[in-house]
Amino acid sequence: MATQTQHENELILEIASLSKRFGENTVFSDVSLRVHQGEVCSIIGPSGAGKSTFLRCINLLEQPDSGNMWIAGQYIEAGRRISGSDMVQLRRNVGMVFQTFNLFPNMSVLENIVFPEQKVLARSAADSKEVAMDLLNKVGLANRANARPTQLSGGQQQRVAIARALALEPKIMLFDEPTSALDPEVGLDILNVMQDVASSGMTMLVVTHEMRFAREIGDHLVVMAEGSILEEGNPDAVMSNPQQERTKRFLKAVI
Ligand code: ADP
Ligand code: MG
Repeated sequence: MATQTQHENELILEIASLSKRFGENTVFSDVSLRVHQGEVCSIIGPSGAGKSTFLRCINLLEQPDSGNMWIAGQYIEAGRRISGSDMVQLRRNVGMVFQTFNLFPNMSVLENIVFPEQKVLARSAADSKEVAMDLLNKVGLANRANARPTQLSGGQQQRVAIARALALEPKIMLFDEPTSALDPEVGLDILNVMQDVASSGMTMLVVTHEMRFAREIGDHLVVMAEGSILEEGNPDAVMSNPQQERTKRFLKAVI
């Protein structure tokens, strides 16, 4: 929840005038955003607004064309080459959870979590396993450690994906519509896991259509359409008193 304390917290993410195009198609332009340590920032908006591409630019799964960002103390400038070690640092700092889970299909649940721990953090096998089992316990899947992802339901796979991201102890977690591929009831389980992650003090950027999550768990709400931020602010304020016609139309359709 938004509290005075949180707003006194320092900025952990500061994005300035970020733009991205694919060929002729400008996906978003001049997007700026500030997120404080421990804040849950929800991003909503119609399909095609550029939300996924924006998240993917934040952890450099896509290269932004212009603008710059401070991410957990790291400065990233569009167009400037980022070294291998900086990229590893960024990957450690920023975890991501996708709509379609993206687990490694040829690995067990446990290996899915252990592998990045060893690769990215160079954690010992024993420590990696201990961290992984602890997280699997937290998401209620310790008894499925040796299963393959295909043997799990969508909701279970998403819980593994969240555990895998948390195992790297990121400073920021990005979620791209983590419940969209799931039945509503299962989606609720995932939202509860995300609420736990938020309560632990994690800074989170969440692209979502879950208005209740955005309103009740989110501290800050960003409305994106056609590659721009239309408006942003306290979730309650934006939802109950949107300033832009485009926001009003979108909220009418989803609430
Ligand atoms: P949202 O997540 O808000 O639905 P996206 O970021 O997925 O929006 O997409 C925004 C626009 O960018 C769409 O027009 C989409 O077709 C385009 N786009 C996204 N990824 C690519 C890509 N890899 N190559 C070309 N165009 C893309
Ligand atoms: Mg998307």
